[in-house]
Amino acid sequence: MVRGHFRQRAMNSGSSRGTPAPLGAGTAAAVARVGAAGSLESRGTGFTGRLKPICCSGRSAPLFDGRNPLRPKCSRIEIHILPARGGKAEGVTKTATRRTLLLLLLVSALIQSAWAAKPGLKCRPDGTFKVVMFSDLHHGATVDPRTLAAMGKILDKERPDMVVIGGDCIAGGSCDTVQDVNNAIHAVGEPMEQRKIAWAIVFGNHDQEHFPKTKLGKEEVIGIYASYPCNLNVRGTNQIHGVGNDDLLVEDSAGTRLVFCLWLLDSGEYAAGAVDGYEWIHTDQVDWYYRTSKALEARYGRKIPGIMFFHIPLREFAEMALSKKFEGERNEPECPSQIDGGLFAAVLDRGDVKGIFCGHDHTNDYVGEWFGVRLGYDYSAGYAAYGLPASNPGSVRGRGGRVFLIKESDPWNFTTWMRFEDGSTDQASPAPE
Ligand SMILES: [Zn+2]
Repeated sequence: MVRGHFRQRAMNSGSSRGTPAPLGAGTAAAVARVGAAGSLESRGTGFTGRLKPICCSGRSAPLFDGRNPLRPKCSRIEIHILPARGGKAEGVTKTATRRTLLLLLLVSALIQSAWAAKPGLKCRPDGTFKVVMFSDLHHGATVDPRTLAAMGKILDKERPDMVVIGGDCIAGGSCDTVQDVNNAIHAVGEPMEQRKIAWAIVFGNHDQEHFPKTKLGKEEVIGIYASYPCNLNVRGTNQIHGVGNDDLLVEDSAGTRLVFCLWLLDSGEYAAGAVDGYEWIHTDQVDWYYRTSKALEARYGRKIPGIMFFHIPLREFAEMALSKKFEGERNEPECPSQIDGGLFAAVLDRGDVKGIFCGHDHTNDYVGEWFGVRLGYDYSAGYAAYGLPASNPGSVRGRGGRVFLIKESDPWNFTTWMRFEDGSTDQASPAPE
């Protein structure tokens, strides 16, 4: 079963917490949409939390064809909810039919119950929020149990509030069937689901390589991820390149103030046409980030500090490496796209993203500062991915994950370090002065 979820969005969205809006018909300030993959997104005011399971008739899985759980029976449905507080209505206004009103009542009940069960991301009572990034798991039709064990050890050591899987979550080329894909994705989420830790993925260049065989697309695949109870992925706007582009907002421990933004971007796969090598983060994605960043600032009256996560590093990583301005290990050359899509320039213009972290080049784990923004790698976590050769002294550490510690008292300065499977860590890297 593919289930959807509901949570606050930055674009056009309202405050991060509060009482769910009363229902009504006619005026629409919040629009919830069940997409083709079964995800429910909100655009509007006054909602946070998640909704799952969601369906259009109230039963558990009528959205999807019984013979093919990945095929939605309902392609799209919109519901309209009154704003939580005063303000100009946004979105499409439609006259509600009796059926629509019944649907609204059902969805409202689900939102409220799911909201109670799944609050949005927030700092712990001690005012900290910890993220662990695991990259390049490369799960395929068979799953290497050493990867699950490594992730488990690191999670039990660090006890994060959120996990980001930094792409190449599965090795698409080694998945021949939809069942293989389901099994691989199950393995991606298993360490977090067992521990009830929130998690989300970004796509890497290898995730899609099963598409010619399975006939799936990214929208169906993100729907599979979203079906897991602790997963926070949504499809993201379908107006731009990529799937899963998203801004995850983190509140302070009191739940009264937005303190941080975790940006997820789809850095694509392989370039088409005259360009060789990897795809790049396209202009419309850069524009989405820029506009969303400005919308956050307008809504909260200040810039919201954040970290970006995606799979393929920017060309700026290689330029920074040439300057030797980094700490940590550079065991292989950077493999960015040949095209600079302009994301780094947009990040400098906005001044809110203080770190950009990637996977892709499995044995690098360095972090440097490049014009005020920290650029860094996450050493791979997957045993199915290439790693350091056994002859390299560093190989005794096993696989690793990158940890980020954010403090609500000083969210512009996060600390980051690599935690390896054997319990060791590189030196924690505080924010530059
Ligand atoms: Zn990889």
